[in-house]
Amino acid sequence: MRDINFLTETNAKPIWHPMAHPAEMRANPPKVIMKGEGVMVTDIAGNTVLDAVGGLWNVNLGYSCDPIKKAIADQLSALPYYSGFRGTSTGPSIELAHELCEWFQGEGMVRTFFTSGGSDSVETALRLARQYWKIRGQADRTKFLALKKGYHGTHFGGASVNGNANFRRNYEPLLPGVFHIPAPWTFRNPFDETDPERLAKLCARALEDEIAFQGGDTIAAFIMEPVLGAGGVIVPHESFMPLVREICDRHEILLIADEVVTGFGRTGAWSGSRLSGVKPDFMTIAKAITSGYFPLGATLIGGKVADVFEADKTSFGAIGHGYTYSGHPVGCAAGLAALAETKRLRLNENAAARGIELAAVLEGLKAKHAIVGDVRYKGLMAALELVSDRTTKKPTDKKTMAVVSEAAYEAGVMLRVSGNTVILSPPLIITAADVTKIGEALGAGLSKV
Ligand code: PMP
Repeated sequence: MRDINFLTETNAKPIWHPMAHPAEMRANPPKVIMKGEGVMVTDIAGNTVLDAVGGLWNVNLGYSCDPIKKAIADQLSALPYYSGFRGTSTGPSIELAHELCEWFQGEGMVRTFFTSGGSDSVETALRLARQYWKIRGQADRTKFLALKKGYHGTHFGGASVNGNANFRRNYEPLLPGVFHIPAPWTFRNPFDETDPERLAKLCARALEDEIAFQGGDTIAAFIMEPVLGAGGVIVPHESFMPLVREICDRHEILLIADEVVTGFGRTGAWSGSRLSGVKPDFMTIAKAITSGYFPLGATLIGGKVADVFEADKTSFGAIGHGYTYSGHPVGCAAGLAALAETKRLRLNENAAARGIELAAVLEGLKAKHAIVGDVRYKGLMAALELVSDRTTKKPTDKKTMAVVSEAAYEAGVMLRVSGNTVILSPPLIITAADVTKIGEALGAGLSKV
């Protein structure tokens, strides 16, 4: 690799970074991360900080998981790649598909379609949902419903079901036939409802209303994150997903649970669907499937959908969809090792226990700092929404957010800022002492503004 001076000098010049303005990145180049160890990362200037972002919601096992590193090295040496397209397969992909179906048996998942990441997984679920209805002879069922504030990746299908204007406007026109209903977000919602259970009912009623308006027999699927992540950690009341399931069932609409963030213990349960005892028809997973060590994702398919595809006698049943890296043997080997470690360390239990401590820390910060308008959390996904005025809920500006995150960095903790929200998604292996450290760094940041 070239030397540090070259990297520092060149930094953002040849790269367009995701979710950033190229000119802004050139003017204010990103931190260059050189090393990771445990839950800590070290930047090019030699600062070592606790990674409260967990990579990007994915490095659940931290940066020193030797079993994953070894599995990757071993598989690279045995077979670095072979295709999973019709006619060939690989050992690790067979084994991981089997493991995933067992792992998510409680959610009713029976088949695995491998992808290269979350956006691919969402796209796969949307496409298979439409195909399901073609096979069933209901070709009119092409529409999708989704939640405002939901995040489902950046492919055209995923961007179309996305519920955040920032990810839509620049790329319109998006997929036709996609409609959004309000998210059960107590801090901001069109009903001014602050009670989570009542709000869940109102949002479910909005779904019912939209279905009546569109015609249930025109809708292929409803997609939702069990806990909304990138939209600012919006935690629906536990009654919401069961209500959605019941409505979808009544109208025969497929339910896609986007578990790209919530999939491997982050919420304190093994999946977000399991939190509320719901069996979706598809689950999209990625990110922590390899703890971020290799790009991999999967769309898991529920029994009802699998039966229809596998019993198909029409001309619609062959899957005309897939990726060069669907079932990448190195990714699947990484996935097998990550899954084994995740189970062995019972990461869901640590996420739940540390999550309770983190929640107490965040509530304490809210009580102390008027700038904190709202705190939201479930397991080890959490957010602080900052406002310049608690009554009007006016969001804080970009500059204020930068001051908070820089001060926290100086205090030894990496945070992620999204709009006026600080998002926390640390590795699931963090300790109680790490939680305290995150709280102290956040406190240092908030004290500066
Ligand atoms: N769905 C959800 C819920 C996500 O959070 C993300 C990524 N943050 C995606 C899909 C897209 O995943 P990827 O960035 O791996 O394409």
